[in-house]
Amino acid sequence: MSPELCFYNDDVDNIREAEYPMLKGATYLDHSGTTLYAKSLVQKFATSMITDLYGNPHSGSSSSILATKRIDDVRLRALQFVKADPEEFDLVFVSNATAAIKLVAEGFRAENGFHYAYHRDSHTSLVGVRELATTNQCYGSDEMVEQWLSQVDQNGTDETPSLFAYPAQSNMNGRRLPLKWSAQVRGSKKNTFTLLDAAAFVSTAQLDLSNSEDAPDFTALSFYKIFGFPDLGALVVKKSSAHMLTRRKYFAGGTVEMVSCLQDNWHAAKDQSIHEQLEDGTLPFHNIMALDSAFEVHKNLYGSMEKISKHTAYLAEKLYQGLSSLRHQDGQRVCKIYTENEGNYHDGLRQGPVVAFNIRNADGKWVSNAEVDKLASIRNIHLRTGNLCNPGGISYHLKLKTSEMKANYAAGQRCGNDHEGAFGKPTGVVRVSLGAMSNMEDVTTFIDFIREFYIEQPTDKEEITQKPSRSGLYVESLIVYPIKSCAGWTVPPNIAWEVKEEGLAWDREWCLVHTGTGQALSQKRYPRMALIRPEIDLRAGLLRIRFHEPRKVDTAKEISVSLTEELQSSTTRDSRVCEERVRAFPCKSQHITDFFTSALGVPCNLARFPAGGSGSTSRHSKAHLQQHQLPRKRRLEDDTGSFSTPPPSPPSSDQEIISRPILLSNESPILCINRASLDFLNTQIHQRNGKAASAAVFRANIIVAASDPASSVPYVEDSWKNLRIGKEIFEMLGSCRRCSMVCVDQETAEKNEEPFVTLAKTRRFDNKVFFGEHMCHASNGGSRKAFIKVGDVVEAFVREF
Ligand SMILES: *Cc1c(COP(=O)(O)O)cnc(C)c1O
Repeated sequence: MSPELCFYNDDVDNIREAEYPMLKGATYLDHSGTTLYAKSLVQKFATSMITDLYGNPHSGSSSSILATKRIDDVRLRALQFVKADPEEFDLVFVSNATAAIKLVAEGFRAENGFHYAYHRDSHTSLVGVRELATTNQCYGSDEMVEQWLSQVDQNGTDETPSLFAYPAQSNMNGRRLPLKWSAQVRGSKKNTFTLLDAAAFVSTAQLDLSNSEDAPDFTALSFYKIFGFPDLGALVVKKSSAHMLTRRKYFAGGTVEMVSCLQDNWHAAKDQSIHEQLEDGTLPFHNIMALDSAFEVHKNLYGSMEKISKHTAYLAEKLYQGLSSLRHQDGQRVCKIYTENEGNYHDGLRQGPVVAFNIRNADGKWVSNAEVDKLASIRNIHLRTGNLCNPGGISYHLKLKTSEMKANYAAGQRCGNDHEGAFGKPTGVVRVSLGAMSNMEDVTTFIDFIREFYIEQPTDKEEITQKPSRSGLYVESLIVYPIKSCAGWTVPPNIAWEVKEEGLAWDREWCLVHTGTGQALSQKRYPRMALIRPEIDLRAGLLRIRFHEPRKVDTAKEISVSLTEELQSSTTRDSRVCEERVRAFPCKSQHITDFFTSALGVPCNLARFPAGGSGSTSRHSKAHLQQHQLPRKRRLEDDTGSFSTPPPSPPSSDQEIISRPILLSNESPILCINRASLDFLNTQIHQRNGKAASAAVFRANIIVAASDPASSVPYVEDSWKNLRIGKEIFEMLGSCRRCSMVCVDQETAEKNEEPFVTLAKTRRFDNKVFFGEHMCHASNGGSRKAFIKVGDVVEAFVREF
C-alpha cells in the first residue's frame, strides 16, 4: 500500500475504534450507504445547532433569514462538490435519489407523455419510471445502447420527448457505465434527454460536471451514500433542460407566488430559479445545515474524492483477487464473481469498489445467501445479500427468466426474505462494497472468513463410529417455555408433566407482541427476552414472571397472570409469529404491559394463544426429515449444481410431513436434544478455544442423556424414528434448523459467536445448520392424558436404513 494511503488508513482506524463503539472490531462492508457517521461530524453539526438559531426559511425573522442565507451557500457548495458551474446548473434538494428520479418523471409526464429507455443495470427506482411513460424500452446491454446511439436522429418528426436513464455505477456489482453517453445522446438525438443515476457512483468517485456540454441533463444522487449523514438527496439540473421539469402541473407551498381558490383556479408559479419551482414545501433545512458539516468533515478526513477513489480501487482489486483465488480441494472456485471487468478493479473507470458473488460448496452446490448473512453477522461483518433492488442486473447475471422469477414469487420469495428459489439457481447475490473508511484489514478479514467457512477442512466433520445402543437413555430434564422466546422453566424432578398434542403443557402458550406491529418478539432481535423468567405455579394457578437483570441486585420485580382465566373470543388481536398471521388474546392489564415494556425497552404486550383454536387461532408444525437423515441412496440427487432443497412433495410415505397442531413454538410440538451431542459439540468448541454452550441456548423441551456416559453416542438422534419415554410413544419429525439465536447467553443476554460458528462447520448439511430433533406425542386418540417425568427411561427406535 502506498504511504499516502497508509496515512489516512491509520486515521480511519482511529476513528473506527474511538468514535464508533458500535463498529469496534466490525468489518464494515456495506457501503450502499458509506456510513461515515463520524462523531466529529455529529459534533460539528451539534455545535452549529447550539450556536446559531435557524428558523423555517419562509419569513423575515433573523433566524429565518439566517437559514435562507446558509441554504444558498450549501447549495453552491453541493454544486461545487460535483464540479458543476452554478451558471449552467441548479441543484434541487430532495429527500433521496429516488425522489430526484420521480421529480424528473413528473416533469416528463406533464404534457403529452414521453418515451422512456433505460439500461439493464438500472436500480429499481429508475425502472419504475417506465410506468409513467407512454412507451418504454430496457436496453439489455451496452452494445444495444451504442447501437441506438449510432442511429443519428436529429430531424425526427416525433414531438414526444424521450428520456434515457442509466446508472453511473451499477448498485449490484459496481460496474461503471460510460459517462460519455449523455454527450452522445445530445449529439445524435432530437428532443431526447438524459437522466444519470449517480447514487452508487458518487460515494467512491468524483462526479465531474465541469464540461456542461457533455453533462447529463439531470443527475440524481443521495448524500447519505457519501457521508452517511444527513439523509438528503439532490437532483442536479442542467439549466438549459430545466423547462422539461418546471412544466409539471403540481405546485406547493414554496413553489408559487400567488394562488386563488374561491372564484377560479389561478396561480402564478415562482420563476426566479429552478430550485424554487421544484422544491415543494419546507426544505429539510436542518439536514441541509448538516450537509455543510459533512462536506467539511469529509474533506478534512479524506482529502478528496479522487483520493478515496484511488484508495478504494486499490482495496477492491485485492478483494477481487483474494476471492477469485479461493479454491476447493478439487481446484474448483469457491466464489462465482459477477463482473464483466476481470482485472479492471484497479483503474476505477469501468469498475467501482464492489464485489458481487455467490459461493459454491465443495460439492459444487450453491450456498444460500441467507446462510452467508447469518455467519457474517455473527462475525460482525456487515454486508448485503439478496437482489439488491437491481432487477435487470440480477436476472442478467443469474440468468433468471421472468417465468422463473414469477414461479419463485408464487413459491414465496419476497424482497428481503431468505427463500432459496427453485430451478437450481441462486436468486440473489452477496455484495461487499468498500468505501472511504474501509481498510486492508477489512479485506483480509473478509477473505479469511470465506476461506474459514466455505472451504471444507478434512478435520471439520468428524466421523462418529460408535454403534448406537437402543437403551440406557433417560430423561435428564424437562423444560417448558411458557412465553415464546423468554427463559425456560425447568419442571421439578418429582412432577409428572402432561404432554399434549401441541407439546408439553403450558409450553409457548404466551408471547410478547410489539404494540405497534403485532409481531411476536423473538430473542433474535431482543436478546434481553432471555432475562424474562416465567415460572408455573400450578397450586396457585398462576404464571409468575420475574425480570432478572444480570449484575444488578435482584429487585425481584415480579408479576403474575392467571393460568386459568376465561378468554373471550371478541378480544383477540391480529398478530404475526414469524411470517404467519395468528389471532391471540392480548392481556389487558396496563401494569403487565408496563412490566414487559420497561424490561425490554420495547413497547409490547403479553398475549395468549391457548390450545384448541381453529383457523387463525391455530397453527401447525412444519418440521420434516432432512436430507442428512435419509439413507444415502435415497437422498435426492441432482446434478445441476443447484441447491438441494427439500423436495416439495415427500417422495415416500415415511418422509411425510406430519402436520401437528402447535401453539407458538416455531416448528413443532416438542424439541429434544441429546446430552451426548451437546458434550461432543462442547469438546469441539473447546478445541477452537470458544465459549462452551449451555443446554439452555438450544431451548429444548426434553434433554435425553445416557445413564452410562461411556455408552453415549453423539448425534445418534438423527436416526431416531420413535422414542418411548416412560409409557408414552413419540414420533420424531426431523432435525431442528438453527440460527444465530443459539448465540444468546441465556444468563446474561449477551451474544457470542459460539456455538453457531462450530455448528456451522460440523453440523451443516445442504446449507443449513442443525442441532436437536423435533418430535411430537404419538396420538392415542385423546383417550387418556399422557404424562412424562424426569428420570423416565427412554428407548429409541431407529429408522431403517
Ligand atoms: C441507492 C441507489 C438508489 C436509490 O437511492 P435512495 O437514496 O434509496 O433513493 C438508486 N440508484 C442507485 C444506483 C443506488 O445505488
